[in-house]
Amino acid sequence: MLHQHPELSGNEYETSHTLRQFLQRYEPDQVITDLGGAGFAAVFNGSDSKGPTVLFRAELDALPIVEQNELAYTSIRKGVSHKCGHDGHMAILLGVANLLRKHPLHTGRVILLFQPAEENGAGAWAVLQESRFQDLQPDFVFALHNMPGLPLKQVLVREQTFAAASVGLKVGLYGKESHAAEPENGQNPGEGMSELIQALNAIARDQTPFSDLSLLTIVHARLGEMAFGTNPGFATVMATLRAFEQEDLNKLKELAIESVKLVSSKYNLRHDLEWVEEFPATVNAPEAIEYIKHAATGMGLDIKQAEQPVRWSEDFGHLTNRYTGALLGLGAGKDQPQLHHADYDFPDELIPVGAALFYRIALTIMQDKSPHVL
Ligand SMILES: [Zn+2]
Ligand SMILES: [Zn+2]
Repeated sequence: MLHQHPELSGNEYETSHTLRQFLQRYEPDQVITDLGGAGFAAVFNGSDSKGPTVLFRAELDALPIVEQNELAYTSIRKGVSHKCGHDGHMAILLGVANLLRKHPLHTGRVILLFQPAEENGAGAWAVLQESRFQDLQPDFVFALHNMPGLPLKQVLVREQTFAAASVGLKVGLYGKESHAAEPENGQNPGEGMSELIQALNAIARDQTPFSDLSLLTIVHARLGEMAFGTNPGFATVMATLRAFEQEDLNKLKELAIESVKLVSSKYNLRHDLEWVEEFPATVNAPEAIEYIKHAATGMGLDIKQAEQPVRWSEDFGHLTNRYTGALLGLGAGKDQPQLHHADYDFPDELIPVGAALFYRIALTIMQDKSPHVL
């Protein structure tokens, strides 16, 4: 159902509505809607209202990718599909709600946060700005991401940085248009543009200024309009900057700005520069990792300590910046196509595992030993 009706970042209103309808059967104590757009939080209180508040997050959004799989539940929206498995993450939180209804907690409080717009890095930040969210004051925050390439159900943990920081850079270079027959009357930014692409690539080729892996990938470039009669007057270059350490990302940004300034002054071009889709590094608290390990061990799951952070970014980093918490990886199978690939599909076997893992993490934190249900 969720897989068949995917919605892009910031437009997840139908998904949000479907989930809220479905959740009614588990009778949450409180539902807080309109968090950062289509986001909402379902609150489940323990019978004793004292004790810590633990938050679990799932993402609502899908991706602008044409689905290649032929499934009974293939996306009905052409060009939009759940290729990051966020549909599976949502189903996991519904599973947690089911467990909380069947076996309520004795103490504390669990919040299930359904967050919009993860893929463009806007959602977590937007939710955090809402005073109705701030009032919830979670003591711990957790999220999981399924991980193709890892054995099914393996739990991947890492203290400190789990996922890289990244940011998009958009550079505009401006000269002057003229007739293609009279290039001397214009100012074509093409040479500057190609030099800028090379200069940006050179920044990441030399890793010496950085303390850990730092990457810069040119993702788009454009010179003027597609017209043989025109000597173009503008160019656009876009790149994604990425680093395991926030300081390295800051350094990458500085070096990129320097290159833009150098090129534009050399070729006498005006420029503008914009940073978009900024994701902080997701930094895990050691305490939160202990809770995950404890819960996973209790379930007999295989736990793997990640040596390196993952290269992709997660806007859950905004939550771990503000609260004690962790993002964990859950193996989606060695042969599962990678995230954001057109043939990827979330393995449903992970739904009960993820739900039980989250529920157990909550029990561990509440030191609630009584419901031996899992
Ligand atoms: Zn994704
Ligand atoms: Zn994702």
